[in-house]
Amino acid sequence: MLWEHYRWQIISVLGAGLLQALLIVVLLVERRRRRGAQRLNRAVLDSLPGAVAILDRSGAVQRVSRPSAQREGLGALSTQRLVASGGSFLHALQRLAQGGELERVATLLKGVLAGRVDEDMVEFRGPLADTWYELRARRLDLPDGGAVVTLVDVTPRRRAELEARRAQDERAHMERVAAVGELGASIAHELNQPLSAILTNAETAQRLLQRAPPDLPLLRELIQDIIADDKRAGEIIRHTRALLKKDPALPFAPHDFNELVRQVGQLVGNDAQLRGATLTLELAGAPLPVRGDGVQLQQVVLNLISNALDAVGPCPQGERKVWVRTQQVGARVELVVEDTGVGLSPEVQKRLFEPFFTTKPAGLGMGLSISRSILEVHQGRLQAEPRPGGGTLFRCSLPSA
Ligand code: ADP
Repeated sequence: MLWEHYRWQIISVLGAGLLQALLIVVLLVERRRRRGAQRLNRAVLDSLPGAVAILDRSGAVQRVSRPSAQREGLGALSTQRLVASGGSFLHALQRLAQGGELERVATLLKGVLAGRVDEDMVEFRGPLADTWYELRARRLDLPDGGAVVTLVDVTPRRRAELEARRAQDERAHMERVAAVGELGASIAHELNQPLSAILTNAETAQRLLQRAPPDLPLLRELIQDIIADDKRAGEIIRHTRALLKKDPALPFAPHDFNELVRQVGQLVGNDAQLRGATLTLELAGAPLPVRGDGVQLQQVVLNLISNALDAVGPCPQGERKVWVRTQQVGARVELVVEDTGVGLSPEVQKRLFEPFFTTKPAGLGMGLSISRSILEVHQGRLQAEPRPGGGTLFRCSLPSA
């Protein structure tokens, strides 16, 4: 009777209860899922190297990874202080970056936050001497925008790179000193020419002055020759000193590659003559602009020519020939050093560029390996191939400036 009368009410009360219970269960499951997802997010965030921060579109910090041992050294940015401050990431960064550097970081961050760039990276100096940081920012593909920013202390890597570069410069310098040392006799001979020409011209001028009236046009000519010879001697000394000097890696500067090669050709010209070899320079007609460390690039040229002269040594007189060519090939500048020498056996060809590989009794075996590393720094290439007709051909190329 009661059931008959209140059937629909009972069913609706029970139904509503059931629905409520179901809703609670769904909410509980959803909360657990969200907590799980949050924990997962946090675990992923914390496992990333460096200090990771999630920024909103204005650059304010929303979340950061927890501080950890591997993030030591990041100072203000390594801690949760960023979130606590709720402030802007850039503001916090001001404590870490140096004045001028901050501008580059700010430009990058603004670009990513404004959606102009999807992802970008910048390396900058820290406030302490010899400290470096890398900042990577990636745009968040969400309706509200924002970005994920990762900051890593890259000081150990940068120090190791600098150390490697220093060691490389040191080796290159030693090799250069050895090469110039070998050229000693030839350089002295080279200097003797302008010096004796200066003496002869000066003595002739002295004699002319004793005549009355002195032959002024001839005197003028003699003095001009004296000046030109003196300049030539000065140049030889200057180039030799530049090669012997131990400069830390010089900043890259523009050079005419032809001119660099010509100067080396002048330096070794006499050595070639003393060895009974003919050295022919065939340089491109127009200047070949390159950017780099001139002394180091000349070291490469010097190495290749010295090796070619060594290689033609055992050949009979008259067959000791070396050609040095430069040319523009597309967007690159190319140097080819060819010789009619002993050539490359398969074993030598395989190991040519290995450090300390040499087939010469007094060889150091560093010339080619150093030349290759110098060229790598200049985005250059160096390879060797057998020369058609006997001997070896070295091809070196650099980006044209
Ligand atoms: P080093 O000249 O002190 O031996 P390099 O690294 O300059 O050191 O050269 C390594 C080796 O490569 C040389 O010992 C030689 O065997 C070989 N080589 C280099 N240039 C030539 C060349 N033009 N012709 C034949 N062999 C060469």
